[in-house]
Amino acid sequence: MKIFKSETEKLLSIIYPERCIACGCYLSESNRSPDFLLAHYFCSSCALTVNWSEERSDCAIPLYYEGAIRDAMLRLKFKSDVSPVSFFAEALEREIRCRFYNVKFDTFTCVPSTKESVAERGYNQSQLIASKVRIDAECDWNLLKKDKATSVQHLLSATERKKNIESAYSLSSGRDVYGKKILLVDDILTTGSTCEACARALLLSGASDVYVACVAKRKWL
Ligand SMILES: [Zn+2]
Repeated sequence: MKIFKSETEKLLSIIYPERCIACGCYLSESNRSPDFLLAHYFCSSCALTVNWSEERSDCAIPLYYEGAIRDAMLRLKFKSDVSPVSFFAEALEREIRCRFYNVKFDTFTCVPSTKESVAERGYNQSQLIASKVRIDAECDWNLLKKDKATSVQHLLSATERKKNIESAYSLSSGRDVYGKKILLVDDILTTGSTCEACARALLLSGASDVYVACVAKRKWL
């Protein structure tokens, strides 16, 4: 299929050429991925390492956290490069529509970061992704708050990690989630303890259901 570009689009693509969101190379007709879901975002060699998750679980998770997806996520989290946001949001939105097609959500939110980490990075990457996902629900990116840093998590054992994170999240003041169906977005699912802690805080505050959607998961889960 040949897609014709308007003169304006041609000019814009010269001024703002697309780059691979994983390795950063400029994308041209000869090196971009032939896969139509990936063509605007990945070069053909990075695209080979993109693995869609076909596992079925209670959560909506479209991708595996490996290869080009890991590289793109690291750019977003540690290099202030927001170019992967659109791809992650598209992938997440398709998966949410597919997995939760019969659910009418009341509130759409994301896993919060501490104020310190938002100040350091300039944004909460889960919020950036979630805010590009089109869901028919009230969006409240500050529904939950993170009260303490959990940045040393990787140094802890699984039990210590769980204990540390369980008390890290709470409902922001002035919020009422009683009886509500809530969709919660996170970037990467590692052990599941972050989403579990957020879901617990929402359920203890009276939410009727919490549905979880993450961009990518580690394969050993
Ligand atoms: Zn690439």
